[in-house]
Order: sequence, then C-alpha cells, then structure tokens
Amino acid sequence: MFFQSTIQQSVKLGGTGLHSGTETTVTLLPAPVDTGIVFIPDMCDMNSGVTAHFDNLRDTRNAITIGSNGYDIKTIEHFMATFYAYGITNLYVVVKGYEMPILDGSSLQIVEAIEGARIQEQNAFYDTFYLPYPVWVEENGSYLIALPSTAFKITYTIDFTSKSSAIGTQTAHFVVNRDTYKNSIAPARTFGFYEDLDALRANSLALGGTIDNALLYTKEGLVNNDLRFDNECVRHKILDLIGDLSLTGQSIAAHFIAYKSGHSMDMKLVKKLDMVIKRNRSTRKLPRKILSRRKVQFERFKRKMNI
Ligand SMILES: [Zn+2]
Repeated sequence: MFFQSTIQQSVKLGGTGLHSGTETTVTLLPAPVDTGIVFIPDMCDMNSGVTAHFDNLRDTRNAITIGSNGYDIKTIEHFMATFYAYGITNLYVVVKGYEMPILDGSSLQIVEAIEGARIQEQNAFYDTFYLPYPVWVEENGSYLIALPSTAFKITYTIDFTSKSSAIGTQTAHFVVNRDTYKNSIAPARTFGFYEDLDALRANSLALGGTIDNALLYTKEGLVNNDLRFDNECVRHKILDLIGDLSLTGQSIAAHFIAYKSGHSMDMKLVKKLDMVIKRNRSTRKLPRKILSRRKVQFERFKRKMNI
C-alpha cells in the first residue's frame, strides 16, 4: 500500500511518432485522486479522454493503442512504463496528435520530464495487488509467467539469433523500482531489423523510425554506432513489458518471467491478470482489523497535513 501520486506542475514533451511519422506535442498535467492516467485530445474537454486500462485496449500490433469514444492514441507504452515505475497513479496526458512521440527510442526524456515536474503524493491510499497464484501464457515456444512474489520483479530472455547474430540471446533480471527503472531500464532504446523495414513501411509502420530513435540491426551487425548496455535489447523488452502491465491499472507484486514475449502476448497475460484482480476484488473483504487500522492511519495523515 502506498499513496496515490501525481506531478506538482505541468510539463511538455514533443517529437515524432515512430509509426506515423507525424509530429505530436504532449502536456502532462496534475490530476486529482482516483483519476487514473487519462489521455486527452483537447485541453478544453477533460471528459473526452481515454483511461489507460486494458478495458480500452484497441491494438497490440507493433505498439499499444488504446481508445474510447472515437478517440484512439497509439504507442503509449514508453510513457506508461515510466508512470508505472514511478508510482504515478493520476495524470492528464494532453496529446496534440494521435501517436505518442518516440523521442530517442527510450524513456530517458520522459523520466527527466517527470523528475523535473516533481512527484506529488496525494491524500489517498493505493493498494498493491499481491498475486495469489501463478498465471501464465504460453504460445509456440514463447511464454510469459507471473508468480506470486513480495516485490515487482522481471526476468526476461530474448532470442533473436535467427534475425541478427549481433543480438543473439540476452537475459536480464531486475527488481523494478524507481532507481532500477531510471538507471538500468529507461535508457534502453527500441530496436528493429533492416530486413523488416520495407514490409513495415508498406503497412504504414515505422515511418518515423531513424537511427536517432531506434537501434537498427542487420543480419550480422548494428547500424548505429553505440550501445548504452551490452544487452540493451532485452532491457527495452522489459521496459515494454512494464508499460504493458500498467494497463492492469494496478500495482502488482509478482515475479514475471518472460521468454520471447511481445506486446500481444503481454496483453494476453494482462487480460488474465485483470480477471484475477477483478475476481479477488469482488470476493475479497479486508479483515475489519486492517480496515480500522487504515482508517486510523488515514486520520493521522490528515491531521499531520492539516487537511
Ligand atoms: Zn518499446
């Protein structure tokens, strides 16, 4: 259990969408308790937005798109991963455009924006969901498993040996918190393959992709000059998974073990997690002792804050 959080002041980011190649401006604004993360096309109408939640999922091909009321917003995962890892639960994300900017392909600039705007704890609790039993998805030799745990952990393995020997097999493991996210996960950039470019562009995808916002691999090598980590690709897959898990709308204590997963598989797990969360929420009644302890804590907090 922790406090709900937003940011103290608004902050702006802008840039090109990876798939659409169009320019987008994003303004992050503080939001009241119990708002959630809401993407809004127009600052004038706060009710026209779409809440970042699995219920509003529209598409998982190549990026995550959510939508409702005729408004869709694409490629939200790097922003969502950052909000989730930083414990930001309430935020208005005003977007001029229909795809979030890819920036440098990582979440570094989003981290800087959030830290610059400073995080504000709010006057309400936010529960962590402790996964009660294992949940998993397995498909064609890929799998994604969630095991009960006391912390949010990810162990991820990728195998791109057949696509590029320069990536090959990579594994990484992190207990996810603000520090590990900022230093070890957020700087990892998205990646793609030279041989896929024509097919992607024929489908109006990766139109904004350049080596300034993605790692580009050939069969044998890397087109870019540098890597930020030896295993940057698997770290980026972890970043994507964090963003995808955020659509549960819930902080989850679980150990996620992934082997060759991706957005579509991540979302199949999120669907299962969403069912477990809803089932447990509707049947679970907290013991009276905990409820009264919470009430006392909350009253004490209000007195301390002079509310
Ligand atoms: Zn990504």
